[in-house]
Amino acid sequence: MRSALQLALPLALSISLAAQAPPRATSPAPALILVKAGRLIDGRADAPQSNVAILIEGERIKAVGPLAQVQGQAKGARVIDLSPLTVLPGFIDTHTHLLLQGDPTAESYNVQLLYQSIPYRAILAARNARIALEHGFTTIRDLETEGAMYADVDVKRAVNRGEIPGARIFASTRAMAPTGMYPIVSDNWELELPHGVQPVDGVEGARLAVREQVAHGADWIKYYSDRRYYFTPDSVLHSWVNFTDDEARAIVDEAHRLGRKVAAHAIGADGIAAALRAGVNTIEHGDGMTDSLMDVLVARGVYWVPTVTVGRYVAGPRGGPWEPMVEHQRLAFQRALKKGVKIVLGTDVGGFPWTEINQAKEFEYYVQYGMTPMQAIKSGTSLAAELLGQPDLGAVTPGAYADLVAVQGDPLKDITELERVRFVMKGGVTYLSQ
Ligand SMILES: [Zn+2]
Repeated sequence: MRSALQLALPLALSISLAAQAPPRATSPAPALILVKAGRLIDGRADAPQSNVAILIEGERIKAVGPLAQVQGQAKGARVIDLSPLTVLPGFIDTHTHLLLQGDPTAESYNVQLLYQSIPYRAILAARNARIALEHGFTTIRDLETEGAMYADVDVKRAVNRGEIPGARIFASTRAMAPTGMYPIVSDNWELELPHGVQPVDGVEGARLAVREQVAHGADWIKYYSDRRYYFTPDSVLHSWVNFTDDEARAIVDEAHRLGRKVAAHAIGADGIAAALRAGVNTIEHGDGMTDSLMDVLVARGVYWVPTVTVGRYVAGPRGGPWEPMVEHQRLAFQRALKKGVKIVLGTDVGGFPWTEINQAKEFEYYVQYGMTPMQAIKSGTSLAAELLGQPDLGAVTPGAYADLVAVQGDPLKDITELERVRFVMKGGVTYLSQ
């Protein structure tokens, strides 16, 4: 028995290593594609350009410019004529949950973790990756699987290998919170229930958890900085901080040591302050953002991902402080905009059902909250790419990935046009064309 195991082990190991060999698409994209764009918003420039040609070679953009200029290099190129449309870079949603189908209430959350297998949830996640792509989101940062372990990395693999259509995925696997500070919790101590996160305690535990998650494919590390949100009479949104400063610093330090950035769920001012003390790279939700915290974000180049769509979606069902949090955040958003905080588009889709609200609604909220349409577009393209540390995403520029969307009207006049994409290309492959 023992020797059989010893024999079996190296075989299993070699199979799993073979499975990790770099995948390659079997049918290469046409060598050259020439996209004619009636109007181009390139994600970086402050003004649109008219009558532009985009030359694509394989999965990347080779040239962008006036048709006459680009045409010389486009011999034999297949032409995609988007002359009547406005072309933009593929959108980027920096806060998603592929493995979640809406959790406005504790019950809706528990049902998914208790009554759905991880394989079933992964099937829905694969569908969600396609929904994101069809809504024009060619890239997402998926901020934890809510009890589905490392299934986000599997979905990412299937997308990268061309097995399923989907957005590019930056995965963060399980996320972290200390013991007892994240659902599911139950009065029945006889039950061992699934955890929505990896429970992490102590400095050594924090470092080990980061190493485990990175070993299983985490591109980002996420932890929950706070819980239990409440307003004080001075209109400050407070919260209970989850980790000790030493624990939070250990998470961030170990992640950075391993070349991973850190996202902190931080809703109340106390949770945001603790996350900033720990040195995180992005603040998620940030409803309780105060002026002095905004100054720290600006000084340190920390990004704020406000996830307005989910905040408004869960406010009614959750009640309590969640309802006034919406208006509180709107006012903070306006002040942060004036202070020059880097506000990056993230929706928290999965907190609301993927099938119910188009993620691009978030652009609309940002304009309602005071951004110009161009600012909102950059927030969900080039600035999001900057947050991800991926300069070849989020812009229509030579060398970047050929991730394009096109809309009918002028999104600078009506931002809701982004909720009706007519064309989606990712890496030179067309996924939607209407
Ligand atoms: Zn989230």
